[in-house]
Formats: sequence, structure tokens, C-alpha cells
Amino acid sequence: MMPRPRQDAGSRRRSLESRDETKPRNVPVRQRVAVIGAGVVGLACASRLQMQGHELTLIDPRPPGEYCSLGNAGCFSRASCVPLGLPGTWRKVPGWLIDPTGPLHIRLRYLPRVAPWLLRFQRSTSMPRVEQISSALHRLLTVTLDKWRPLAERARVPELIVQRGHAFTYESAAAFDADALGRELRRRQGVAIEVLTGGAIRDFDPALSPRLTHLVLLPEQGHCPNPLRLSRALAERLQMEGARFVARPARGFEVAGGRVLRVLTEGDPVDADAVVVAAGAHSNSLSAQLGADVPLETERGYHLMLESPSIVPRIPIASGEGKYFATPMEGGLRVAGTVELAGLDAAPDWRRADAMLGKLRRVLPLLRHANVERWMGHRPSLPDSLPVIGRASRAANAYFAFGHGHVGLTAAAPTGEIVADLVAGRAPFMDISAFTADRFR
Ligand SMILES: Cc1cc2nc3c(=O)[nH]c(=O)nc-3n(C[C@H](O)[C@H](O)[C@H](O)COP(=O)(O)OP(=O)(O)OC[C@H]3O[C@@H](n4cnc5c(N)ncnc54)[C@H](O)[C@@H]3O)c2cc1C
Repeated sequence: MMPRPRQDAGSRRRSLESRDETKPRNVPVRQRVAVIGAGVVGLACASRLQMQGHELTLIDPRPPGEYCSLGNAGCFSRASCVPLGLPGTWRKVPGWLIDPTGPLHIRLRYLPRVAPWLLRFQRSTSMPRVEQISSALHRLLTVTLDKWRPLAERARVPELIVQRGHAFTYESAAAFDADALGRELRRRQGVAIEVLTGGAIRDFDPALSPRLTHLVLLPEQGHCPNPLRLSRALAERLQMEGARFVARPARGFEVAGGRVLRVLTEGDPVDADAVVVAAGAHSNSLSAQLGADVPLETERGYHLMLESPSIVPRIPIASGEGKYFATPMEGGLRVAGTVELAGLDAAPDWRRADAMLGKLRRVLPLLRHANVERWMGHRPSLPDSLPVIGRASRAANAYFAFGHGHVGLTAAAPTGEIVADLVAGRAPFMDISAFTADRFR
């Protein structure tokens, strides 16, 4: 059982009063805010909103943090300003259909469903568009650690925000060269990058294979050694401060006069002054009811949790070739990544997860481990690698915070701050025009 609220009503009112002068007159200081979805994005939004003094209800049939947010690679990727689609990437699509264990795979029978998304994906790969996307991603992600630290402090888990950097491994000069554009985009955004070759790689981390030709160090990156514990800690603090958790799915909204009055669930409705849609890969049916029918797809990813690993890399490593991360975590070594386009309902293909382990063994040849736990999860992804964050067109008091794809853990805290600013009627700390749902009209 979670502890009872620690702050009494009087002290909460006083802390709200002290903020009164910073509020626009027409926005109530204390609103009843319903957040749909208690993944890491919904939890970060709710935490920020509660810090502003609002009364929170989180609606989710699942326990907090136990869907996509449970199994990610745990990386706070400040430098992930490189979209999935780069010039020429779409030419690889035929190859993605053939190899079920490749870094990116499309299940043949899902191709007709995902074709419109792939078309939009292709349209986002011109160099000018890639540069726009990269700048918008950079502005959102580069602040991740600054935005996460106060949330983690508040949830009493500051140890879950670690900043030691990431390293990208390459087994050939050709693979290193193939990632040149990604490095160039990062450099343009001012990301610190160091390239090691030859013996310097093993000097940096003796666990790494001598077969590696290049190691690209990104020293400013961070990681979370236990993403589920982070989500649970946020949820616990929210509940301690009076947030209500409603364990039912949201089905729609009662809207009148251009405002959402209540969220309809598979039980009693939830009255709200403001609503945030943060239902991850399932957000589209809800956002469509609020005027935003966006091309949300799921990029399915896998992880393997290796218990009691004989060695772990010094810092999280990412394979330049294999598109997976290996992150030292509290429960062992987590190997996570790859992309599979197969929809929300298809059964997992565990060969994809096992293939990552084969690839990791080439990078960490002395790795031995005990049990292996497999997991598959649904990244909520838009074809241009940008999330949807902003106000709904059909309801002045409804907000979107979904579609964070490969960077939802990283972007959750900055997104939470943006949403809290919007609910308060303030200009967000950054320009969010690139994230509007209207870009797909
Ligand atoms: C293999 C893998 C590795 C990854 N690695 C990283 C990484 O290292 N760093 C990083 O930043 N990101 C990473 N990601 C991405 C990141 O995990 C996701 O972007 C993030 O978890 C999305 O969070 P979310 O809260 O939007 O969605 P979710 O965690 O999926 O939460 C959505 C919630 O909405 C609820 N919901 C759905 N429908 C309804 C409804 N109708 N009513 C109410 N609730 C509903 C669900 O039950 C769920 O709890 C990775 C993802 C994968 C798969």
C-alpha cells in the first residue's frame, strides 16, 4: 500500500497562493487535470502538473510504467537528434521485408497496413526536412537531464539519473562511415563526440572485443539503471500528494462549448478542467476524437535481460551495425532495441530478441550470464520521428503528449514541463511548433 498524502491542505493552498502573481488571470491556478496513460510520459506530465498545484487523476487500465516504458534501454539520449529516416533510408525497405532478424523488419502481411506510414516516412527524408527534424529533436532532448533531475529528486530516486555517457561500437570502417551523416547532424547541434580507434578502444573498456575498429564516445549522455523503478517512484509520489489512479481504459470525451467536460471510461466518467492524452501507441483513437487523426504506428522493440552477467560494459554501448543498446542495469545487463513493423496485435517474434544477443557476443566476447528474460514493447511512433505535443484543435482544454518513438524516456520530463506550461496558459520553455498534430493534415 502506498503512504498517505504528506502535504496538508493548508500548506498546499499557501504554496499555490505564492505562485498567484505568475498566472494569467483567466487560467485557474488549481485545475482538475485528467492524464490518460500512466507510462513514463503521462507520469512525467502528471508530476510536473502536480508540482504546479493541480489536482491529478491518472487513467490507465495497466499499473504505472508497465507498458512500453517498462522495457526500454534506459538511455537518456540527449544526442538522439538523428531521425530514423535519413536521405536514402527508404531504399532499404525491400531489405527490411526479407530478413526477420535484421535491425529493422516489416512483416509482409502488415505491409498494406503500414504502407501509408512508410510513404510519409519517405517524405520526411529529404535533407532540408531532416535538418528541421534534427533541430526540433535536439531542442527537446538536450535538456533531458536538467528536466529529469527535479522529478527524480521529488520521487526520492536521484540515483536513477546517471550521466556517464554512451559509446557506439563499430566492427568495420564501412559501418563507421555509414553513420557519418548521423555524426554530422549531432556535431551541427553541438553534441560532444570523441572517436577512438585501435588500442585506445580496449584502454577505454577492456571488456570490448579487439575486433572493434571504432568507438564513438558521447560523454554527455545519461542512463537510468531501472526504468520501471523510476516510473513507480513517480507514481508513488503522485499518489502521496493526492493523485487518484483510475484503473480503467479511457474511451472518449464529453465535449461542450469547445471544452472537454469529462473523460468517458469503461466505468464512471472522470470530471476534468483539463485533459492530457498520453496513451502511447494507443493514443490515436482518443486524439482523433479531439480533432487530430495522426498517423501513429507502433515500432515494436525487444529486450533481453541477462541476469548475473560475467562482465558489463563501463557505460551503455550501442551497436552501430545492430541498432541495439546494451545497458548495465540493476537487474543485470539489458540488451534492447531493433524495430519491427507488425502492428499492435501480432505475436512477438523472439528470434529478433535472440539475434541481438548473438550480435552482442561479438562486441563483448567474454560475456557469460545466467537466466535470460525476454520482452517486447510498443514504441509509439510518428513517421517523421517527432512526437505530438500541444493543444487539441477541437477542445481548448485538451493537450497531446504522445508519439515519442525511440526517445520517450528521454523526452518525458521535457514534455511534462511543456504540458504543464500549456495547462497554465504560459508559453512553453521551447518552441513546440514542430510537434503540432496539424503537420499531418
Ligand atoms: C526496445 C526499446 C528500447 C527503448 N529504449 C529507449 C531508450 O533507451 N531511451 C528512450 O528515451 N526511449 C527508449 N524507448 C522508447 C520509450 O520506451 C517509449 O518512447 C516510451 O516508453 C513511451 O512512453 P509512453 O508513456 O508514451 O507510452 P507507454 O509506456 O506505452 O504508456 C502508455 C500508457 O497508456 C495506457 N493506455 C493505452 N490506451 C489507454 C486508454 N484507452 N486509456 C487509458 N490508458 C491507456 C497504456 O496502458 C500505457 O500504460 C525504447 C523503446 C523500446 C521498445
